[in-house]
Amino acid sequence: MENSLICNFCGRKKNEITFLVSGIDSHICNYCIEKTYSIIHNRKILERNNKERVVRNKPVQIQIKKPKEIKSFLDEYIIGQNEAKKIISVAVYNHYKRISFNKKEEIEIEKSNVLLIGSTGTGKTLLAKSISKLLKVPFAIVDATALTEAGYVGEDVESILTRLLQSVNYDINSAEKGIIFIDEIDKISRKNDNPSITRDVSGEGVQQALLKILEGSIVNVPPQGGRKHPEQKMIQMNTENILFIAGGSFDGIDQIILNRTNQNSIGYFTKNKKNNLKKNTDQNIIAEDLIKFGLIPELIGRLPIITYLNPLDKNTMKKILIEPKNAIIKQYKKLFEMDNISMNITDEALDIIVEKTLQLGLGARGLRTFCEKIFLEYLFNIDETDSVINIDKNTVINKLSSY
Ligand code: ADP
Repeated sequence: MENSLICNFCGRKKNEITFLVSGIDSHICNYCIEKTYSIIHNRKILERNNKERVVRNKPVQIQIKKPKEIKSFLDEYIIGQNEAKKIISVAVYNHYKRISFNKKEEIEIEKSNVLLIGSTGTGKTLLAKSISKLLKVPFAIVDATALTEAGYVGEDVESILTRLLQSVNYDINSAEKGIIFIDEIDKISRKNDNPSITRDVSGEGVQQALLKILEGSIVNVPPQGGRKHPEQKMIQMNTENILFIAGGSFDGIDQIILNRTNQNSIGYFTKNKKNNLKKNTDQNIIAEDLIKFGLIPELIGRLPIITYLNPLDKNTMKKILIEPKNAIIKQYKKLFEMDNISMNITDEALDIIVEKTLQLGLGARGLRTFCEKIFLEYLFNIDETDSVINIDKNTVINKLSSY
């Protein structure tokens, strides 16, 4: 009888184990006791680490810059996109003014989260990044496509706050005044209103989960990110003073706008029809179009500032190559200069790079791709390279012949 006893946790028989502890009507072996102990012990360590990890340094003082100062800083890095730069400068100024505002005042200033709409590679991320650089506030970029509704495979929405926390080594006071750029917000559209969308599963669920975070509340954040799991002790974070900038290309929204403006122009609006069509449709985006695209109205409500980034034309692309403070061509020149090599590139050569990039359709992102192709060999052979490198039209045509 004694020998027929087994561990009710792992099923080992009495003769396979050192000892068996008996409970009321079940038994546990020494192996299972050790295992359970280590689970409890590790959890305690994890909880302690998480608690210790969070630091509350002295509240960060943000140097508030005036909208014009912000805009002129942005001008150094971002070519064109004047309207967007202006709008975002004002939004950021107001946001940080709001933070320093006395809460007891009668008028409560609402959060000014921003929605940036524009094709890929037009400078949405660059805009958000540059703002954080100027204000020296914590900044994190997250991809909305990685997020899923709680309980599904993927990252819980709260993990976007983990990124911000991690970027400042868990200094919560500082993170609570940071900026989060949520990229690809258009990819979490709900299915119904948008036949072109391929991925949905939890689109609307993610939007719902984002609401709470965006509007400003106390959120339980998993310190390691990813999915929430019971071993993680959550960190409470207040999102009231975090500025959210969401970006997306919203491919296909122009058709929605066109349909709407065409409908409006029926009957006595016909006179306006031609003008409406002539305008760049995307600049006339209204909330209704975004709802049709698949964003839920509540989410749009929490992104009250909507701005549009223009597609990049030839002229702008060329300027991007050479004008910004850290323009790509300036960077290559510098790289060569550090090896005492002077690099010159002709205007015609730049034109070809721009033309090829426009064909690629990746916005300004393509410029770097082509420059890499052009300069790779020169950089690889830098110890044998002449003291002067001249890149002309033919060099570029040769190097990019397969594109
Ligand atoms: P997206 O709109 O897809 O977020 P990014 O901001 O990431 O695009 O832009 C990709 C790259 O293209 C940037 O690193 C930057 O070098 C360049 N770029 C895009 N738009 C501009 C612009 N308006 N001015 C200067 N550089 C730009």
